[in-house]
Parts: sequence; structure tokens; C-alpha cells
Amino acid sequence: MNVVNNGVIDGKAVAEKVLAECVGEINSLKEQGVVPGLAVVLVGEDPASRVYVASKVRKCAELGLFSRKIELPKDATQEEVLAVVEELNADAQIHGILVQSPPPKHIDEDAIVRAIDPAKDVDGFHPENVAKLTLEDHSGFVACTPAGCMRLLQEAGVETSGAEAVVIGRSMIVGKPMALLLMSKAGNATVTVAHSRTKDLAAVCRRADIIIAAIGMAEFVTADMVKEGAAIIDVGINRVEDASANRGYRLVGDVAYDEVKDKCSVISPVPGGVGPMTIAMLISNTVKAAKQSL
Ligand code: NDP
Repeated sequence: MNVVNNGVIDGKAVAEKVLAECVGEINSLKEQGVVPGLAVVLVGEDPASRVYVASKVRKCAELGLFSRKIELPKDATQEEVLAVVEELNADAQIHGILVQSPPPKHIDEDAIVRAIDPAKDVDGFHPENVAKLTLEDHSGFVACTPAGCMRLLQEAGVETSGAEAVVIGRSMIVGKPMALLLMSKAGNATVTVAHSRTKDLAAVCRRADIIIAAIGMAEFVTADMVKEGAAIIDVGINRVEDASANRGYRLVGDVAYDEVKDKCSVISPVPGGVGPMTIAMLISNTVKAAKQSL
């Protein structure tokens, strides 16, 4: 199956490949009497979070994983959320736990993440897993979105070794782990991390053989910021009003796709690029957690 068509990386096709690999491992685990299990905790009623949680649970069912969805009301206390995490930490049927972000404002999300057993932290946000990523200890879990971006680059045949890579964004869920992966011995790229205080971002980006855009601003990276032949991974998911769309809006990335597409060598589209990879890597991490529990 072609994963790059006319320079456009087919994230769905790569995600299917990752999931097909997972199915092989799930079957072999089942032969050993283990069904990988994922628990997803949803606090409150954020509509986007509901959609994400439903799609994660659906994917588990499709692939024959065990899953539990635990819903707590929006006024659930910190102690109540922590009690659920403790129960899941002790549940032998559960190998992966994630608490859907963002929780309601009164919940201390960092404390919840720290309470998750690092061996079940399939989101890769626990400090122990962040440390393992930094140390290149492969027993840890890598955050799903940056892990998915690395796989997209690899599948698209983008050489990261020796490449100048610019990561725009320094969040703990995308930018920072992305930079660590690219600079690791597996990535071997020369990495610049840009953020809102970066001076002359356009000039910084023009140096890049690889741009990872994780900003959260619609069509922010324009053609003048891109070197001819660069590879672009667009992580952003932004809603822009569109009266012609059924829902009244459409989703666009952080990259001005139409004008950048013809200038770069490969680009991941939004939707259909990084998005499908994030859930595939979550499943992959859950399978890894189940294997490591043996
Ligand atoms: P954050 O808001 O946590 O981080 C955004 C980063 O962009 C920050 O580091 C910020 O800099 C930087 N930034 C903001 N404005 C500028 C600017 N003008 N110039 C340069 N840098 C800037 O976002 P996330 O990392 O959580 O997410 C980024 C995007 O990726 C969002 O659109 C999100 O929806 C999407 N996303 C998509 C996923 C997927 O599965 N496809 C998964 C996760 C996220 P500073 O630190 O200085 O504030």
C-alpha cells in the first residue's frame, strides 16, 4: 500500500499498518491467556473529549482489546478521580490507563497523571516515562502523537539522520517529546524547538529539512517559511468557520496546506495525517504494556 500519494502522507494507511502489527501481537498475547485492556476515564462533559473517548473505546472493541470507560460527573472531586485511578492501577485486567484531557478546571491534572502507575501510563505523560524517553530507555511509553509523527516520517521515507528539524511548539504532549525523539540516537536530527518567543520564526523554519508544526493556530506556517523540498508534519487541529460545511466549520492544520503543498517534498494533511496515528500509537502502547506485564 502506498503511504505517500503525490507528496501527501496518508496517515490513515500508516495507522492501519500499525494496527495490523498490533493485531498480530494481540493474538499472540491471547494465546498466552492475556487480553490487553485499556481504561479510559472521562471527567465532565466536554463534547470533544466525549468524541475522543468514544473513538478509543470503539477501536479497542474492533481490535479485540478489553476496554473500560469510566465516566465521572463534572463536579467529581480530585479525591474521587484519584480513587478511580488507584482502583485501575490495581486491576489486573487493565494494562493501560488514560484520563482524558482536559479535565474540569478544579482538577489538578498533573497530580492525576502522577498517580497513574507508570507501567500503565500509555499516554506517556508520567514523569517516569518522560525521563525514560530522555534517557532513551525503551521500556518506557512515548507520548502517542509525537510517536505517531516519527512513524509517519519513517514510513514516508524521510531521512531524519543529519537533517535540520524545526519543531514549532514546546508542549509536554507534542513539542518536547517530539524534539527528544528527533534528537535521539534513533532520530539523529539536529533539532531546533521554536515557540511564541522565538525571534524571526520564518527564518528559523526556512533552515529546516523537516518541520513539525504543533502550535494550535490555523494555517500559521505559510509557504514563505518553508524551504523547497522540506518534509512537513502538521499536528494542529483547528476549527475555522465555513458556511458551506454541514457543521458550519471545517478542520484545518497549523500549516497553510494549499500554498505549502507544492513547495515541500511530503506533507501530512489535516484531517487524515497525524490524527489517525495518535489512536494507533495508543493501542500500540497498550499492547506493549500488556506484553511487559507478563
Ligand atoms: P499547546 O497550546 O500546549 O502548545 C502550543 C505551542 O505553540 C506552545 O509551545 C506555544 O509557545 C507555541 N506557539 C503559540 N503561538 C506561537 C507563535 N506565534 N509562534 C511560535 N510558537 C507559538 O498545544 P499542543 O501542543 O497541545 O497542541 C498543538 C496543536 O496540536 C493543537 O492544534 C492541538 O489541537 C493539536 N494536537 C493534535 C493532536 C492529534 O492527535 N493530531 C494531538 C495533540 C494536539 P509557548 O510555549 O511560548 O506558549
